[in-house]
This record gives sequence, C-alpha cells and structure tokens, in this order.
Amino acid sequence: MTVGVESSPGQVAAAFRSWSDAFGKAMQDGDGAAVLGLLDADCWWRDLLALSWDLGTYHGTERISGLLDDHLKRAGVTDLTVVTDFGPRFVAEDDGGGTIEGFFTFQTPQAWCRGVARIRQVDGVWRAWTVMTGMEDLKGHERALGARRPTGPRHEVGATTQRNWKDQREASAAYRDRDPEVVVLGAGQGGLALAANLRLMGVDALVLEKSGRIGDGWRKRYHSLVLHDPVWADHLPYLPFPQSWPIYSAKDKIADWFEFYAQAMELNVWCSADMTAAAYDEASRRWTLTVQTPQGERTITTRDVVLATGAAGEPNVPDFPGRDRFEGTVYHSSRHGSGGDWSGRKAVVVGACNSGHDIAQDLYEAGADVTLVQRSSTHIISQVHGIPAIFGANFTEAGPPTECSDLLASAFPWPLVLEAAKQGVKDTAEKDAALLSSLEAVGFKLNDGPDGTGLMGFALAKGGGYYIDVGASGLIATGRIALAQGSGLAEFTESGIRLADGRELDADLVVLATGYSNMRETARRLFGSEVADKLPLVLGVGADGEIGGLYRRTGQDGFWYMGGPLAWVRIYSKHLALQITADQAGISPS
Ligand SMILES: Cc1cc2nc3c(=O)[nH]c(=O)nc-3n(C[C@H](O)[C@H](O)[C@H](O)COP(=O)(O)OP(=O)(O)OC[C@H]3O[C@@H](n4cnc5c(N)ncnc54)[C@H](O)[C@@H]3O)c2cc1C
Repeated sequence: MTVGVESSPGQVAAAFRSWSDAFGKAMQDGDGAAVLGLLDADCWWRDLLALSWDLGTYHGTERISGLLDDHLKRAGVTDLTVVTDFGPRFVAEDDGGGTIEGFFTFQTPQAWCRGVARIRQVDGVWRAWTVMTGMEDLKGHERALGARRPTGPRHEVGATTQRNWKDQREASAAYRDRDPEVVVLGAGQGGLALAANLRLMGVDALVLEKSGRIGDGWRKRYHSLVLHDPVWADHLPYLPFPQSWPIYSAKDKIADWFEFYAQAMELNVWCSADMTAAAYDEASRRWTLTVQTPQGERTITTRDVVLATGAAGEPNVPDFPGRDRFEGTVYHSSRHGSGGDWSGRKAVVVGACNSGHDIAQDLYEAGADVTLVQRSSTHIISQVHGIPAIFGANFTEAGPPTECSDLLASAFPWPLVLEAAKQGVKDTAEKDAALLSSLEAVGFKLNDGPDGTGLMGFALAKGGGYYIDVGASGLIATGRIALAQGSGLAEFTESGIRLADGRELDADLVVLATGYSNMRETARRLFGSEVADKLPLVLGVGADGEIGGLYRRTGQDGFWYMGGPLAWVRIYSKHLALQITADQAGISPS
C-alpha cells in the first residue's frame, strides 16, 4: 500500500504497525539478519542504553550489524508494541516523498524501554531510515511518577514531628548521620535535572553549589540577559513551566524558577559549598571529598561524583602582557554585571561572539563609548529567523507534547542534526541578508560555522562561537558600536590596549569575551591531573556520533560529566541517572 500526504491516519498507522510487528518479532527472536532486512542500507540507529548500555550512533548496514551482533541476543527484547497516544504520523519531504514516524515500547529483563522509528517506502517496501532504542526505567528502580508517587506524610493518630514534611526535608538535606550515594557539583540546569532524576529513581544525591543561591549561574550574569531558546525547548524534566510563561525567559526569572524547582522536586542542595579536595580509592570504589560549608568543613564519602559546573567550561583568560600597567579595569565576560557603571566612559570588548556582542550592547545602552574587537570572523543569525530554523516545528506552541518532541529529537542522531543544519543556515542567511550585508559593509567578517553547520555546529563543537542577534549587529552596522576588525589584543598599555597590527585603543574598561576552556580543565583543577588525564574532552561529536564526554562513562570509574542547554539536559539527565542508578544497584553489565 502506498502511503502519502493524502493517506488517512488509519492507513499511516497500518503501515507503521505492519513494519513494527515484523521489527518486534525480529528483535524478540534475536534475529539480526531479519532486523537488518527491515532497515534501509543508509539507516541510522541510535541506542540510548537499551541494547548496549551506552549511548551510541550506528550508521549503515555494517555498523548496525556490529551493534546487533554484540548486543541483540543478550539484550532480550520482548513485547514491542506501537504507541498511539501521539502518531504514527506522515511527515512529507520536499522531494514529494516522506517518512512515517512512530513510537513503540518494549522491554528487556532489566528495563522498560521506548523507541522511535522513521520508515520510508522504497520500491513498495517499508524500511527504516532512523531507529532509536532507549531505556526509560530500570526494573525495580522505576521513577516515582504517577501511580508510583510517594504517599507523603499522613496525619495519623500518634503522628510525631518525624512525620512533619519540613522536618523530614531538613533532616534529609543535612546528611548528619549518612553520606549521599552521589555528589553532584553544580546546581545549574544540568545538576538539578540530574538530581531530580536520581531522586525519582531512589538514589540519594547531594548537590553542592559554590554560589550562595540556586540559580546564581543565571542570576549573576549581565543584567540584560534573556534566554535565546523559546519556552517549548526550556522545560526542566517533570515540571513544565506554567502556560503563561513567556516565550523568552529573563535570566532572573529562570534563576528563581530553578530555586523553586529544587524545592518542588525535593532536591538536597547545599549552597555556598566549596569542594576543596577529592581522592578516589580504587579498592573501595569510593570518593572522599572535603567540602567547606558555612557550617564548617565536612568530609563526604560517596560512590559517584558528577561534574555539573558548566558544560561550556572554565573562563578562558589569556595572560596578555602589560596587564599590570593598565590603569583601567579588566575582567572576563563571565564577570560582567551591568553596564551602568560605565556611562560616559570608554569600553573595549575583546571577542565578537555571543557574550562580546551582548556586553557591548549592554555597555552602549548604558551610555558607554564602546569598541568591539573582532580578530577573525563570527557566525551571525537573527533571533527571529535563526532560532525557529534550529528548533523546527517540534518545539513550538503547536508542536507535539514535550515528551514526544524529546523522543523525536533524540531519535535524530547528531551527525544528521549537523547535516540538516546546513540547509537551515542557508535559509536563515537569505532571510537575514539585509542584516548580514549591513555588517559586511562596515568590515565585519562573517562565517557560516564549521563546514556550513552554523550555530548548531559551533554549539556541538565548543558551546559557543556565534552571535544570535538581539540588537548589537544593528548598532555595529550603524557605527554606534565601533568595530576594530582583523587583529587581536596583543598587549595592554597604560591607557588601553594595543592590537597585534599596532592599532591602539583607549579604554577605561576592557572586557575579555575570550570564551571558555574545556570542562576537562575544570576537572583537572578540582580532581587533579591523574583523574583529568583519563577523561575525554567535553563537547564535539565523536566518531561514534555522540557528544564528547557528556551523559556517559568517562574513563574514570565513578566520575561523570553533566550539563548543556536546557533541551539537552532535560533529555539526557535521565540517561545519565539510569547509568548511575544501575551502577549503584550493581546491575550494569560488566
Ligand atoms: C546570552 C546567553 C543566552 C543563553 N541562552 C540559553 C538558552 O536559551 N537555553 C539554554 O539552555 N542555554 C542558554 N545559554 C547557555 C547556558 O548558559 C548554558 O546552556 C547553561 O548555563 C549550561 O548549564 P550547566 O548546568 O551546564 O552549567 P551552568 O549553568 O554554568 O551551571 C553550573 C553551576 O555550577 C556552579 N559551580 C561552578 N563551579 C562549581 C564548583 N566548583 N562547585 C560547585 N558548584 C560550582 C555554578 O555556580 C553554577 O550554578 C545562554 C547563554 C548566554 C550567554
């Protein structure tokens, strides 16, 4: 039966069910050859723990055959069933063809799982173009959601203060007579989303936050900051924003929401907590951590440590010569609070990516005389055209429920995301043509990202390197923010900076918007080189099609990285929590 845009939902569902029935049988039989027969030769398979207990992307018959040979029989897949609360649905493509995308559930002896397939009709036969198999819950450690929610304290005769919820929460968070099973460093979105998942899986996690308040990671950023991503991409797991939430969140609003989230999800967080020493004992497989808190020093022993101190890494502050003789103020962009203090004064912002542009705009709006230094080139998109192109139709008001959008997103492997991004970059550049040419007219240099993949390519490679225009480009194009293009900061002078080509710029303030170094350097500073040398770099899409370092084993037993944009942490915090929970319960395969 040919299925197309004109087909009824029943016809679409029947075609998907027919493919899924054959797929489910082949999976249950452990028959790799039969599974391969249901896949396109160009198929992409992403396994998120369900078969391999790892995150991995497999492209083409040979690699998928390897996945199935290694894991299919042992995985023990049963009960593959199509889910119909959303989809299957036909998604038309520009060439007149299309795919049916649909969801299914299945189980293995250890886990409840979900999957997504996108199937295409080639010569009358339905074959899968993408398959995702993902673990949802470990059996015996299912997340305490819905029917599994806790009873909560009850007002029975004889109830004591122990039954008071507040007393219980305070005792739980104090860790007076026990150690946590997991310590998470950092109560940003990554740390909080992970802690929420661990708690729901029954794992006792303590989050240590260096700052005074949850949400300070956003709160302490520059005054004018507003999130780039729209609300539909930004929900934290298990607690969606209210329907009145604005499309773009101001930084203080999201910071306060994080604080509320930690309370509502009953997360144990110590603020103003600074881990000053860490040692791993191979024999007992335990970390011993020394933590300075406002109540004094604590020594904590724990099985797993998660570094969630910011996936973008440590502020990169190059040691430019002459800094001591400069009479003005210098700081890294991460320390910029508000432009207000610099009204009527000269500011130079070194670095022309997101922070550089936003800070230059903030300083300009505060009445400073601002120059932006651009050494090489920058990828620019307008927020209005570029962001919808990146998120597509799934993260919009009319899009699928977040849970389905997340499954669809995780069923689209990163190499395909990057490939698809190229067209989005071209389309956005056409829409932004006037903006881009006005920038080029003043000598601003543009690029279209690594291999033409734009913002997505930069975000995956290093978490930055682009600017989403919310006004600074217009200020540069009209000369209201001056541009010093083509040369980088070489040294400080008494009254400002000298660029490598000899140009001198006077400044009362120099902001170094010079980016961040890899998160592995944070691990090195906190855990020492012996640990850091075993760890992968964070970010970058590796040969296995996955993001470097995040959400999976790192090479150091009991050490994990967590972090990233809200959409990533919402999706992958569950997978990291599943791996930690399985390790803690002793059910991970060796
Ligand atoms: C202008 C702008 C707009 C942005 N818009 C978006 C957006 O729309 N959506 C989005 O997802 N991202 C956006 N980002 C990027 C966003 O900042 C990151 O995605 C996010 O901060 C990453 O979260 P994280 O949990 O990995 O790290 P962070 O948010 O950096 O959180 C790390 C936490 O760890 C704490 N910490 C650091 N060191 C230690 C330590 N040694 N011990 C204990 N705690 C420590 C920090 O205080 C912080 O609370 C934007 C960034 C900028 C600059």
